[in-house]
Amino acid sequence: SKQDFIRNFCIIAHIDHGKSTLADRFIQKTGVVSDRDFNAAGGKQILDSMDIERERGITIKSQAVAMQYTAKDGNTYTLNLVDTPGHVDFTYEVSRAIQSCEGALLLVDASQGVEAQTLSNLYLAMEHDLHIIPVINKIDLPSADIDRIKQEIEDDLGLDSDLAVAISAKNGIGIEDLLEALIEQIPAPKALSEKPLKANIFDSHYDPYRGVIIHVRVFEGRLTKGQNILLMNTQAQYKVETTGIFRIKLEENEALEAGEVGYILAGVKSIGDLRVGDTITDLDNPCDAPLPGFKEVKPVVFSSIYPLSSDQYDELTEAMEKLRLNDAALVYEKDSAAALGVGFRCGFLGLLHLEVTQERIEREFNLGILLTSPSVRYRLTDKKGHTWMLDNPAKYPEPSQLELCEEPMIKATIITPTEYVGSLMALCMKKRGIQEQMIYLDTKRVELIFQMPLAEVLFDFYDSLKSLSRGYASFDYQESGFAPTDVVKMDILLNGEVVDALSQLVFRGNARERGLQICERLKEEIPKHQFKIAIQAAIGGTVVARETVSALRKDVTAKCYGGDITRKKKLLERQKEGKKRLKMVGNVELPQSAFLAVLKSK
Ligand code: GDP
Ligand code: MG
Repeated sequence: SKQDFIRNFCIIAHIDHGKSTLADRFIQKTGVVSDRDFNAAGGKQILDSMDIERERGITIKSQAVAMQYTAKDGNTYTLNLVDTPGHVDFTYEVSRAIQSCEGALLLVDASQGVEAQTLSNLYLAMEHDLHIIPVINKIDLPSADIDRIKQEIEDDLGLDSDLAVAISAKNGIGIEDLLEALIEQIPAPKALSEKPLKANIFDSHYDPYRGVIIHVRVFEGRLTKGQNILLMNTQAQYKVETTGIFRIKLEENEALEAGEVGYILAGVKSIGDLRVGDTITDLDNPCDAPLPGFKEVKPVVFSSIYPLSSDQYDELTEAMEKLRLNDAALVYEKDSAAALGVGFRCGFLGLLHLEVTQERIEREFNLGILLTSPSVRYRLTDKKGHTWMLDNPAKYPEPSQLELCEEPMIKATIITPTEYVGSLMALCMKKRGIQEQMIYLDTKRVELIFQMPLAEVLFDFYDSLKSLSRGYASFDYQESGFAPTDVVKMDILLNGEVVDALSQLVFRGNARERGLQICERLKEEIPKHQFKIAIQAAIGGTVVARETVSALRKDVTAKCYGGDITRKKKLLERQKEGKKRLKMVGNVELPQSAFLAVLKSK
């Protein structure tokens, strides 16, 4: 059948192990883009289309592409590559992409070896019974250690290293062997076109000319123009307008059949109307049950966005609406705070998602904004027994009314070379972590599993982990419910006035230290004024930390920011931008950079 010549696969890897480079190499090798266009792209990744993705080297939106490849057996196969996002903030999206495939290429950097995200992605792939081909990438590097990686593939991943394919995605070594292995080993999809329709939405994107493009994998039945469809989890109904496949550009076709990956247009107005992971079926001839594993994606980090100048509220509203069209995970509602005017309360999947959103508003819409201190969502119970969720420190009730405060917990997995175990354990302990497991993966590497409060991971955890381990430790996490905690609301005062946007809920035991850190960071961020500025951190009216920005002297023309010269130039430029954009808070001009800086210690 037609399905015998289809292979659906994804590439899973830890960040930077070469997933995007390999995807581009496949695209070139199978002639989806000409060699000339490939070279013209000048090393820019073809599938990672968003600017921010390229600059940060991460894949945020997943993409798919259909490739034709004539194998050594003389047959021409359709290879559907379903790209997966590469960051812990986006695990659910990864799982939906994985669910759409029969096989996965598990990419391991030949000089770095197996890391936390390699493992967590492997587990996801195994859960969905994917056939997994281990791939050792970057064998061109002098530091490549193929034997060691093979050992890790056996020991840590439990896979047969004899089946591993060694490649260099960058130099194009071993690519054909890999394509042949893929065709030979990954099972063809089942030929179930005669059954009622069952298709998975694994992604969607917004096209200004065509509207919402739904990315689908058909498991059973077929999708055709004019068909009335039902989305089983949201119960929404649509009529299919177009079906097609991804060839970098969209290419219309007659129908999508069982086993195929492609897109449909169905007159969906906004991405927010769709849920990744939902099952599409035929309205008149539905399948009996949706695909398993559907989840509403829940934001875990909350912050308010305000325009720097309040007359830009309308522009911000428009920007938010446009972003939402493209980003189903972004949720927001109108919000206002006395000193800051009108803005939006927003929910994000994680801090990265928050920062990417901030950057997109600034770059794509050229709007100066500020974000208030991010917060997790607490579960509060008052003395009368009422329970509610709270994510806005400004709305924290009078403590005497509260019976119980619970905070979200995570299960953190860290993989590190043994020499950093001591300092990383100390870091986790400092972050109120409770050790659950410590596993020696081999003589050189350890896997640590900790229960930790999500709030602690937000505050400077990832950066500390990277610097303590000189970049070698990797980190991944899963949510794991709520646990009782003891938080206090900490206010930041500038010249005696509370700045709502900087208020935070912090663990009582860390409050003083956190207050000191924040005051110190603010002192660095706030430029000198004509007058002295007192910065204070206070809990329930009691000042726990203070700093002073002295007044501008005549001979001082600019504040020296003491920037860390080793940081990337780009980052510095971005910070400069942030410092140029100011928000008047009372009589003090706060640079935009101050609002996020309070989250990061030096
Ligand atoms: P991703 O985060 O997994 O998508 O990784 P990328 O494809 O963006 O690659 C991360 C970095 O590794 C980039 O600088 C690539 O140029 C580099 N890279 C990828 N594959 C190879 C390879 O085979 N050899 C070498 N030397 N570098 C590679
Ligand atoms: Mg990438």
